[in-house]
Amino acid sequence: MRFLVVFLMAEFSIMSSAFASEKPFSFKDTPGKLPKDVVPTDYSVRIVPDIDKLTFAGSETVKLNARRRVRQLVLNALELKIEAASIDGKELPGSVIKTDANELLTLALPSELATGEHTLTLRFTGKINEQGQGLFYMRYREQGTGARKIMLGSQFEATDARRFFPCWDEPVFRARFQLTAVIPENWLAVSNMPVESEKKIAGGKEVRFAATPPMSSYLNVFVAGELDFIESRSGSTQLQVIATKGKAEMGRYALQATAQILQYYNDYFGVAYPLPKLDQIALPGGFGGAMENWGGITYYESKLLFDPKSSSAETKQDIYEVLAHEMAHQWFGDLVTMAWWDNLWLNEGFASWMGSKCTAHFNPQWEVWLRRELPRDPSRRVGIAKEAAMEGDARSTTHPIQQPVATEAEANSAFDDITYKKGQSFLRMLESFLGEDVFREGIRRYLAAHMYSNTTTADLWNALSKASEKPVGEIAAGWTEQPGFPVVKVKREQGGKVSLTQERFTVNFTNAPPLEWKIPLTYAVVGETPATLLMTRKLDSIHNILADRALKLNVNGAGNYRVEYDELSWELLLGALKNLGVEDRVNLLSDTWALVQANRGPLALYFELVEKLPASTELAEREQIIHVLDFINRLLIGSSEQEKFQRYARSLLRPTLDTIGWEAKPNEQPARTNLRSSLITALGNLNDPKIVASCRERFEAFLTNPESLAPDLRPAVFSVVGRYADESTWNELHQLGLKTTSIEEKQNCYDALADAIDPKLVKKTLPIALTDELPTSRAVFLVLRVARESGHPDLAWDFAGANMKALLAKTDALGANTYAPSLFTFFSHDSRAQELKTYAKNNLPAASAAQVAKALDEIQFRSEFKKRLAPQLSAWVDGKNLAERQESRLTHH
Ligand SMILES: [Zn+2]
Repeated sequence: MRFLVVFLMAEFSIMSSAFASEKPFSFKDTPGKLPKDVVPTDYSVRIVPDIDKLTFAGSETVKLNARRRVRQLVLNALELKIEAASIDGKELPGSVIKTDANELLTLALPSELATGEHTLTLRFTGKINEQGQGLFYMRYREQGTGARKIMLGSQFEATDARRFFPCWDEPVFRARFQLTAVIPENWLAVSNMPVESEKKIAGGKEVRFAATPPMSSYLNVFVAGELDFIESRSGSTQLQVIATKGKAEMGRYALQATAQILQYYNDYFGVAYPLPKLDQIALPGGFGGAMENWGGITYYESKLLFDPKSSSAETKQDIYEVLAHEMAHQWFGDLVTMAWWDNLWLNEGFASWMGSKCTAHFNPQWEVWLRRELPRDPSRRVGIAKEAAMEGDARSTTHPIQQPVATEAEANSAFDDITYKKGQSFLRMLESFLGEDVFREGIRRYLAAHMYSNTTTADLWNALSKASEKPVGEIAAGWTEQPGFPVVKVKREQGGKVSLTQERFTVNFTNAPPLEWKIPLTYAVVGETPATLLMTRKLDSIHNILADRALKLNVNGAGNYRVEYDELSWELLLGALKNLGVEDRVNLLSDTWALVQANRGPLALYFELVEKLPASTELAEREQIIHVLDFINRLLIGSSEQEKFQRYARSLLRPTLDTIGWEAKPNEQPARTNLRSSLITALGNLNDPKIVASCRERFEAFLTNPESLAPDLRPAVFSVVGRYADESTWNELHQLGLKTTSIEEKQNCYDALADAIDPKLVKKTLPIALTDELPTSRAVFLVLRVARESGHPDLAWDFAGANMKALLAKTDALGANTYAPSLFTFFSHDSRAQELKTYAKNNLPAASAAQVAKALDEIQFRSEFKKRLAPQLSAWVDGKNLAERQESRLTHH
């Protein structure tokens, strides 16, 4: 859709920016701990793992360029023992080698090093970790044979390459990396580049990989084990999907998708994929997501492998989106890299936006943009929930997209909803404002100008400004350099005038500092062509709107702001609902629910809207309602209001399920299939007796004949059965989970165990997290799922608190600061806030402070919201019942 642009260039010349505008990239001004007078250009690293001892020995030669004369070399190393060091062939005495708590390795040189080229050589030893940090191991059972196996993988972002070899481990120090590894003879090794040579040596074989182009250290990868692969080719690029033996064929879908996505990006970016090969590597553990290592992307295996026989449609969509996200990084992140972690959003916001754009392009039937309006289970979908980011961004604990990062822990904490999802939302808003073609032209200029180098956000805005001839940096600054976002208040005046006022939108945040934005607004009189207005001040207005016509702002919900309508505008909109597209209806639902959360409107405002919507089976619209009902249902656990509420909530959802039925029609749209399983799960959670009985029946039938239950319905049916399980059903689910070799079925079973609400069973489920039944990352997530789903966050916390050390040993670098605080976010009682404060003070590192603050805010918000909601809910439901009774009396007369 093209927008009519109401846009005055002249306005910009009199506007002054309130922001300390960021500078374009410059090497010497880039933040970081390492001095910039010595830069590495080429690494040659040799690693010899000892699988039995879970240690490794390494050696490396690093070509250096001294830009100034120096007396010492400072680089990074962590949990490495430096055995020997020499510079230009001269051995350094052990006494000058120092490692410290800042993760720095300092080599004091006997004499001043002249400017120019030098060679540093180091010998070192390190350890192979259990959690996905640095070099790590994974234990798994082999597909088909069931044999117990071990393999190795690596995870270096943000700051863990220094656990693998000493290096200048900050993204601005680009260098060529050439890796050699010694592995058992029957193993396959994978790294960023193709294997250059392989030779037999005592105790195995030595594999030498080609050198990478200049890149940041965190993008290195090393995976080795008893692996299999399938392959294809796209132009000059060799494509492979690599998995543990017996599983490679399950990568067929990913391999085909890879070829499709690669071609799209080659065209979109205007720069062809620069490496000779691209490997998609499935890991059976270590971490939960995916990592964009250049040329060798790693995935937790359920994010890559797809078995059409036992996988759901939802899994297929997840895989595509994750692939598209990680592959976008091969350009945005790998070819061009943010100079420092304060600009991480350049990597993640962009890859999230690009990945969704590409996924939506090839799969319009998945409603990618529409569904991102919904907060989702963060373990299932990456980087696509706009609403989740907006919920967090309205709180006092939010931060700007661009934020200062000083320490390694802060770098790891930067991987959050704001960085990914607000970044994505802002780019989408900007693209729809500048136009698709102009935006792409800007991206092409940016990549062409900065490939094999680093950038700041200013470089991106400069490229987009040149392509669009608009001051993108000035519009963008308010969105990326300050926290939060606005609400636009709409008021109908006399004579066709509509006045607009912007203010900061907050939830549970009194005395928030007032802020203003330059808002690329869109609006439409319902049924007419949309228009655009760049709102640059606190007040603005739209003219010539007929008094009896409904006006909708934020067309299709593409903007990252809320809208609050006055009563007149609201009544007109309610009257025009049937003429609004589904995108706009979902946007109205989301905004209205947010207004209720923010105490800007009563609960009745939301339910009135829900009840006035025309009957529909639109997935995103129904899922928004499901989300809200589910949130309220959880908030009411243990309260006397819950049963009454559940009855009302079921009355809102049942008609839709009755319309679409349990059985899929031939050639059904995927949206319909997704809606069916969402409704079954939701109605099950709302204790609908008919749905629960039906799920049990289908589960029993599945046990004798698995094919009787469609893969798409399994997660929902298992979850409902698990929720109301007795001990023998719990055991059945557990046995099924232990026996199956399907990753997805295993996950369905353990998810169902975690959903059990019987406290006796909750106590049986939690200890599974300490066993090796599940891969490490999945095991720690089990406790979180119990906290969220079982209705017993108290039991989950008691367990986690008592076993924290063992659980953290299974958590990767990104999870370490968030794990304990996140378990508190399911509480809604003030006393838990105090408990968390005390726990944090005694047990958590300073780096957890931001996560602790978020959890405290969430507890406080839930506690306040619960008190506010209960009487409103009672009144609304009782009012409904009264109205129904009156109605039925009338019809029975
Ligand atoms: Zn990413």
